[in-house]
Amino acid sequence: MTSLTTVGFDADDTLWHNERFFRGTQDRFAELLADYTAPDHLAERLLAAEKRNIGRYGYGIKGFTLSMIETAIEVTEDRVPARVIRQLIEAGQDMLAHPIELLPHAQAAVEAVADTHRVVLITKGDLLDQERKLAQSGLGDLFDGVEIVSEKTPAVYAGIFERHGEGAERAMMVGNSMRSDVVPVIEAGGWGIYVPHGLVWEIEHAEAPEQAARYREIADLGALPALLDQIEPR
Ligand SMILES: [Mg+2]
Repeated sequence: MTSLTTVGFDADDTLWHNERFFRGTQDRFAELLADYTAPDHLAERLLAAEKRNIGRYGYGIKGFTLSMIETAIEVTEDRVPARVIRQLIEAGQDMLAHPIELLPHAQAAVEAVADTHRVVLITKGDLLDQERKLAQSGLGDLFDGVEIVSEKTPAVYAGIFERHGEGAERAMMVGNSMRSDVVPVIEAGGWGIYVPHGLVWEIEHAEAPEQAARYREIADLGALPALLDQIEPR
């Protein structure tokens, strides 16, 4: 029988809303550049810039803002007005100040799991921004550890669950990204629990590991305590 020591939670779009702020800013981006290019083409170019830049800037709003500026320069062939650049910088700064809105069941689920397991917040993104969101969420005190990482790979998960428990084989990760929260944890030997959010950034798409014994999907975090009981009956 498994005995799980540690449960990791993803943050963005698992505990609180995130992707909707990116979508809203992207709509604004399309409006600002409407005189130069069609929204579909702009979105394609932006996504290409984001992919190119992850290795340089990492994940998060700062890199996204720089990718918008780079794309604006590209699609206007260097003619983008400084006024538009300023509005893009302001749009990024607005995102860095957006209020935290917890997802349904998030607080109750973390509280319930924290009673019986070590709980760790594991997230990518800008260090300052993720710290701000955790502080504003009111969930900070529930976590035994917080790990803000540049990439979520099997090796990164193995290290985290070694530090905060007894290894990945006795750990579970819960999140909305199949690519970052589920697949690499299962590869590391742990449980990967997928909680779909609806809005997914294209870069986070991956096939569900349907054949994996340690893969589960739940509709929302309200189902997490029952899933834990089912996996390790007390
Ligand atoms: Mg997420």
